[in-house]
Amino acid sequence: MVKAVVGANWGDEGKGKITDMLAQNSDIIIRFQGGANAGHTIVNNYGKFALHTLPSGVFYDHTTSIIGNGVALNIPVFFKELNELIERGVPAPKILISDRAQIVMPYHILLDQYEEERLGGKSFGSTKSGIAPFYSDKYAKVGFQVSELFFEDSLREKLERVLETKNVLMEHLYHKPLLSADEIFDELMRYREMVKPYVCDVSAFLYEALKAGKEILLEGQLGSLKDPDHGIYPMVTSSSTLAGFGAVGAGIPPYEIRQIVTVVKAYSSAVGAGAFVSEIFGEEADELRRRGGDGGEYGATTGRPRRMGWFDCVATRYGCRIQGTTDVAFTVLDVLGYLDEIPVCTGYEIDGKVTTDFPATGLLYKAKPVYEVLPGWKTDIRGIRRYEDLPENCRKYVEFAEEHIGFPITMISNGPGRNDIIYR
Ligand code: GDP
Repeated sequence: MVKAVVGANWGDEGKGKITDMLAQNSDIIIRFQGGANAGHTIVNNYGKFALHTLPSGVFYDHTTSIIGNGVALNIPVFFKELNELIERGVPAPKILISDRAQIVMPYHILLDQYEEERLGGKSFGSTKSGIAPFYSDKYAKVGFQVSELFFEDSLREKLERVLETKNVLMEHLYHKPLLSADEIFDELMRYREMVKPYVCDVSAFLYEALKAGKEILLEGQLGSLKDPDHGIYPMVTSSSTLAGFGAVGAGIPPYEIRQIVTVVKAYSSAVGAGAFVSEIFGEEADELRRRGGDGGEYGATTGRPRRMGWFDCVATRYGCRIQGTTDVAFTVLDVLGYLDEIPVCTGYEIDGKVTTDFPATGLLYKAKPVYEVLPGWKTDIRGIRRYEDLPENCRKYVEFAEEHIGFPITMISNGPGRNDIIYR
């Protein structure tokens, strides 16, 4: 059976922790989209790790971790992460890389940097990991699949053809040094040696695994609101963050995805630019940022301070609906234990009318948050394992959120560790 772990919000909901936790009872964990532009933070018995490209199942020896065809594979970053893990005492994980996954080329990263520079103050706030140029090239059919590394002649020929257009941009738009086919080709040959032991026909592997009744976990990156179709376009990421895309990005039939665990954060945070209706500022935001997550709300990849806000029922209800949620995992609830009162955004006021439907971007910029204020619980709830043992106001907060988002909260995370979880 296949389960997906995906985000309902802007990312950083705690998917890494939930995946790591569910991986205990899984055989295979697959990354199906995105690249090294975002990170998961995982705390377990080996220590604290920030993973950017490795699936969150790499800490177990009973699991196989897979890079699906939908991923933007940055080969040097991937191996740096893998080696770091091994150096810190984690047993070498079993890893497979799809022969159809495409490669983040050195020039994708350069183009991302140069374009952000060119846009100046109007930039997307990209992490400059090459993700947008990568996916643009993939769909413009000038990307490179891992499998192409093994056909030197056609690889070289295609590389020269692709570089012709890239070098026009380098010279005339960005005024930067030209790209050398020789250098990039040599780099690709190094990539080939690195990936060779792991390359696999992943969809065939998964077909057999499904027939054998294996437990498979799809691990999403970012959240619904960063989806290029259903999110806050254009301030989105360049690959679909939705569970539905998991079928495509991993290479399995869509009907095999039986459970969609959507991770929802008990307050809001976002990185990068874009509409964020329940955003808060000043000292109120600083305090939540300092106390948030596990050691503060700063980007796992960039170290940038995250934008902070109160829980947004409108965005989360939409985010859960568009994922096709079967279960909600409600995370970082423990962080809110310091507040006397907790505002929750229950509606958007747009042109004088209040709505609970999340609109497309144009209207979103006009939306003002409508808040209801709930009483806080003023205690540390870490360590609690049974729902009934949570303070009454804390349970009321969970039940209020559940009612407004309209999907069942079956898991509550009250700490960063694997066992900090309450099942309902
Ligand atoms: P992801 O990209 O969705 O996996 O999220 P991140 O890893 O960027 O952010 C989640 C952060 O919150 C990490 O630092 C986690 O260790 C931490 N975290 C996850 N769940 C909880 C929780 O329930 N409580 C607290 N305090 N921290 C959590």
